[in-house]
Amino acid sequence: MTKIINLLKKFPFRWIKKSEQGDALIIVAVSMVFIMGMLALVIDLGLAFLSTGEQQKAADAAVYSAGRLLPIETGNTTKINQIKNSSINYASLNGFNDLTQEDIILGKISNGQYTEIRVTVDNAVPMHFAKIFGIDYLDLSRTAVAKLSPVIRTTGVAPIGLTKDEMDARIASNNLTHVTLKYGVQDRTPDESPSFFGALDLDGQGGGASDYRIWITQGYAGEISVGDVLLEESGNMVGPTYQGFEERYTACTHFGALSGGDGCTSDNFEPTCPRIVKVPVYSYGVDKKTVVVEGFAAFLLENQTNDGYITGSFLNMVSNGASSGSNVGEGTDGDFGLYNLILSE
Ligand SMILES: [Zn+2]
Repeated sequence: MTKIINLLKKFPFRWIKKSEQGDALIIVAVSMVFIMGMLALVIDLGLAFLSTGEQQKAADAAVYSAGRLLPIETGNTTKINQIKNSSINYASLNGFNDLTQEDIILGKISNGQYTEIRVTVDNAVPMHFAKIFGIDYLDLSRTAVAKLSPVIRTTGVAPIGLTKDEMDARIASNNLTHVTLKYGVQDRTPDESPSFFGALDLDGQGGGASDYRIWITQGYAGEISVGDVLLEESGNMVGPTYQGFEERYTACTHFGALSGGDGCTSDNFEPTCPRIVKVPVYSYGVDKKTVVVEGFAAFLLENQTNDGYITGSFLNMVSNGASSGSNVGEGTDGDFGLYNLILSE
């Protein structure tokens, strides 16, 4: 036994040990470089991808804010420039200054109008550790898309409107100006509903010129949805109708309204203008005392008479509310030109 031990002692273990240590050192060194390299990449890429969150936010803000200018006629270069510049501005407000007009694409054409906006925010993120591997920048891009979709539920509705049959016919013949939204004489044959002049009771509580006056001036605070059954307001409501129109019409402060100018018109309007009313488009209920909401439309108030008529011109526009999710022009039910802007993709 001792013989074997002595023999083993003579064997050059020291040399072997030394050599193994060397190998190990090389392995450790190589591993360290590899691990550090990976770590460096992970840190750089991690930071880069974290920054894409900001990029996405800028892209979302750009489509969502500028998208409110939709829909835009495909040939209207003024408005196309306006929406593109607005996108560039909103991206810049969110820290991305390099957006160009080419980064903004309008699409989903329906009835000659763009109904979708797509914005791509590119960013060259400088690398720190990855420079060791010759990567100085990482090009990252984030895209946001917003589209119009018909409003099917909304607040702020005015207690006047028009029938779906009339609206459909007017859309079909492109006869959308000077539309009667409230009548001064009965709208229907006397045997149907002798006291209906086009005024609606939006809260279903019945009666009340004071409620009606508030609704026509400010819009109804509650939600109205497609499919809701609304009571017909009985009577002409001349006084509150006149007052409501007057308050809204004179409250316009845009396009020179304060200095004797026209103020908002259906060609040039500020979307928040009090002259704009959002009204239900309805069909008559079976009981001849109610109407059923089929959709919503926006009009710019134009004229009234002192016997209860109100007229306005149709507007295609974006409003608050919930949308059906369907595209403009697809599934035409409930699509009367009042849209919600929703992020898609
Ligand atoms: Zn205005």
